[in-house]
Amino acid sequence: MSLIVIVDDRVTNRNIFAKLAASIEEDVTVRTFGDPQEALVWLAEQTPDLVITDYKMPQMDGAEFIRRFRLLPSSVDVPVVVITVYEERSFRLRALESGATDFLHSPVDHHEFVTRARNLLKLHKHQLLLASRANTLERELEHSERSRERALRDSSERLAQVIDTLPVMISAAGYEGEVLFVNAFQTAFAGIDPATLIGEPVASLYGNEQGARSHALDRMVFETGKPLPSYEEDLVDRAGAKRVFLTTKSPLKDAGNVVTGVLTSSLDITARKRTEAHLRHLAHHDPLTDLPNRTLLRERMRRLIARARRGDQLFALHLLDLDGFKAVNDLLGHSAGDRFIKAVGDRLRGAIREEDTLARLGGDEFAILQAQVAGPEDAAEFAQRVLAVVAEGTGFDESTIRTTASIGIAIHPADGIDAEDLLKNADLAMYRAKAEKGNHYCFYAADMQARAKNEALLDGELRIGLEQQQFVLYYQPQVDLASGSIVGAEALLRWNRPGAGLVGPGVFLPRAEENGIIVPLNEWVLREACREAKSWQRMGLPPVRVGVNLSPVQFRKRTVPLLVAQVLAETGLDPRRLDLELTESIVVGDLDAVAIDLQQLLDMGVHVSIDDFGTGYSSLSYVKRFPVDRLKIDQSFVRNLSSDPNDAAIVRAIITLGHSLDLDVVAEGVETAEQLARLRAEGCDEVQGYYFGKPMPAAEFIELLRREPVLALSA
Ligand code: C2E
Ligand code: MG
Ligand code: MG
Repeated sequence: MSLIVIVDDRVTNRNIFAKLAASIEEDVTVRTFGDPQEALVWLAEQTPDLVITDYKMPQMDGAEFIRRFRLLPSSVDVPVVVITVYEERSFRLRALESGATDFLHSPVDHHEFVTRARNLLKLHKHQLLLASRANTLERELEHSERSRERALRDSSERLAQVIDTLPVMISAAGYEGEVLFVNAFQTAFAGIDPATLIGEPVASLYGNEQGARSHALDRMVFETGKPLPSYEEDLVDRAGAKRVFLTTKSPLKDAGNVVTGVLTSSLDITARKRTEAHLRHLAHHDPLTDLPNRTLLRERMRRLIARARRGDQLFALHLLDLDGFKAVNDLLGHSAGDRFIKAVGDRLRGAIREEDTLARLGGDEFAILQAQVAGPEDAAEFAQRVLAVVAEGTGFDESTIRTTASIGIAIHPADGIDAEDLLKNADLAMYRAKAEKGNHYCFYAADMQARAKNEALLDGELRIGLEQQQFVLYYQPQVDLASGSIVGAEALLRWNRPGAGLVGPGVFLPRAEENGIIVPLNEWVLREACREAKSWQRMGLPPVRVGVNLSPVQFRKRTVPLLVAQVLAETGLDPRRLDLELTESIVVGDLDAVAIDLQQLLDMGVHVSIDDFGTGYSSLSYVKRFPVDRLKIDQSFVRNLSSDPNDAAIVRAIITLGHSLDLDVVAEGVETAEQLARLRAEGCDEVQGYYFGKPMPAAEFIELLRREPVLALSA
């Protein structure tokens, strides 16, 4: 149904137009007004479908009427036809400006009136329909938009809830180390209010030391844009309990692929670690006595060998076998036999010192690793004591059972330079002791005279070797982890021993230290290495340091600073290109003197590194006390880096300690990509090992330097 409004001051016109309008469609309502003012009042309440108005009216003209009509809220889409006799453009323009839709000329042609009005009505209806369609569409759209937003909000809220309830510590930090985000599990772990944490330095989350470490690793992620390999770390919860976490760091990137933060997530693996530790304990211990087994004994021996590499620390391996144990077993049965073995084990445990290792190798066979002996006499005295402890007898079901033992002794390094040799030779000695009818100990080198003779022979050969220049230096590259390029070479001594080919220092160094040949020999090493390094400089090769190992024996003579100054002057080598490697054992003796000598060396501008770091006893106090530049982590820790959490913890501790004292940390014995990745994640500065190159003749090393950079490090 359509509503048509007609405004005209003349009643005749109103009547004619009303009739015409009523004929347009079937259902038409027509309202007529003589006074436009009245019409406006009425129109304020009604919305018509078409308005037809006269132009010239006494109260107000058609243009003014339309203008006012258009001010009414619902009038916008309503078509308005103006009936006018005026031909002038100006009237038409005024009418159009005020909002007229169309014109009809007076006198009105009836047919034209009806057609025009009908078309306008149709158009209007159409517009109304379109508008309402658009309206519903918009409403629908609005609705779905809102529900999408809600869904998004819901899902991110849910995600935040999930992140908060996951038993994983999750946090993010920015470039300056400020906390961007932290989940509830982590704040609960640290006992901190999350609200106070955002924007604060990560140290407030982890404490200073851990915080600095985390920040340094984050910087690596910022710089490379790549995630770090996962690593394990120990964290202490607010109750003070230590927990182990597996931590991953990965970059957070914005739409432009720019790193805006680093996400750190740490999974609590304490339980898994406990199980692993239990399994490892089982793998390393004898189930009956819970003493270390053969595997662990070998490992401990390897560590002692590493510590003793410079030759001035002896240790002894005692192999012990009970005499006549078979009879005990036959007499009392196996389970009583087991109890007896346990009892003997307990008594032996009481006889050793803390740094010694007592192991059960199987049956009635035990081994004792005596960690520090001054000489064979020490080992003999100890063996005698052990024999007495065994012979004391064991109280057993109201009776006392007595047995004795036979002991075979091998001393490192004289009776073997590796674990297998020592075990084999101690075993041979033990059989000789048994042959003496038991309750007896024997050294591997049964004939002390023969041993002395061998040593005298070697001493002579070494002297001749030095005179005849049978010694050569091999060089092993040291690689900087940040740049991937060679920054140094360690000079390692080799002996072209007549009849034996090229032999390593393990064979002759202990002897050379014992008889003092090490002093002139090491002087030659220093001179030769500096001369060689100077020649690299002359050839215009990339600048590298040369590392020279010094002997504690040499150092104790207090001539090292003078010698170094002399050699530098002779060869013209820049002191900054020389790196002296010392072991912790130089501290044995006058500590103040050592500190003075080290300071003199540093004042000259040479570098000083502590070699085989971690194998000695004095490590921590040592570095704090003495001025040095660099720590070299011993290869025995690097070897089991991925498999032994203790070693991984030691490596981490050394790196943290070194960095906190402003020292560079170098890892030795790097053989695999995995070891490399771990060391890199731990923040190690330099690496050395077969992975990059074995010790090689000078000519080969020069070739390697020429080809630089050859060691493109896979990130
Ligand atoms: P060091 O100073 O700790 O030297 C590193 C030793 O580890 C070298 O053994 C080297 O060949 C070896 N090595 C390097 N990378 C790897 C690796 O990836 N895997 C394994 N398994 N081994 C690796 P080398 O040449 O037999 O020297 C043994 C020790 O002898 C040296 O240990 C050092 O203490 C001493 N030494 C060597 N040359 C001299 C010297 O001129 N003077 C003195 N006083 N001692 C020296
Ligand atoms: Mg070294
Ligand atoms: Mg070393």
